[in-house]
Amino acid sequence: MNINVLTIFPEIFSVLNSGIISKAIKKKLLLINLLDIRKNSINKYNQIDSKPYGGGEGMVFMAAPLIKTIKEISKKKRGPIIYMSPQGKQLNQKKIISFSKLKHLTIICGRYEGIDQRVIDNYVDEEVSIGDFILSGGEYAALCMIDAISRHIPGILGNKDSYLKDTFSNGLLKEDVYTKPEIFDSLAVPEILLSGNHQKIKTWKSENSLLKTSLKRPDLLKNIKLTKKQKKLLEEWSSKAIL
Ligand code: SAH
Repeated sequence: MNINVLTIFPEIFSVLNSGIISKAIKKKLLLINLLDIRKNSINKYNQIDSKPYGGGEGMVFMAAPLIKTIKEISKKKRGPIIYMSPQGKQLNQKKIISFSKLKHLTIICGRYEGIDQRVIDNYVDEEVSIGDFILSGGEYAALCMIDAISRHIPGILGNKDSYLKDTFSNGLLKEDVYTKPEIFDSLAVPEILLSGNHQKIKTWKSENSLLKTSLKRPDLLKNIKLTKKQKKLLEEWSSKAIL
């Protein structure tokens, strides 16, 4: 997959040199094409932003440097153009999976008060937010999105099935996880997990996942079709005041 990123701070993306993403980049499963918007500034002072018309605080990215940078990418290598923006639709796992199936994607990272609306209206296919809060730059949002997308690119995760069991993949939170030692500070790991009984372990995991979702994120349950067994468990927990 090829991801083009338009930014005035390409150096922020050096964090992609760590972890699984760096391996994916080395293996050429993922290409991050960083484009420095400032290289297309309008004058020798490297200007890419200006004051908003009509007054108001801060600065706004001008259209020309952005559009010139977009045009540096050949049309067939652009894919959808995304503007990271707190005003966009909130990102979720479903959206991440659909992005991960693309060959090309272009991400615009804003700063200051954002970018000239004419770029959004005429070039951007979608505005994407990572949550209802304001970041100082789209780079951090883009990094979150790139990281999440990369987990779904074939060949990137060591265990190809691990993303299938992630939180949200079946609409629920992943079960609690434990590792060595069996007893830590007198705190024991749930016995079933040490039993070696695969069927019981599987049941424990799915019940734990359902229980913790109902306690921590009951809103998620509205988006999935519960099995009869799951409904029964929820009723049982409710009647016992566990929920
Ligand atoms: N003044 C603007 C916010 C600008 S924040 C407003 O009130 O709407 C500066 C830049 O950070 C934005 O251009 C955008 O690219 C990025 N950004 C900020 N919050 C974000 C969020 N929640 N999700 C995605 N990008 C965000």
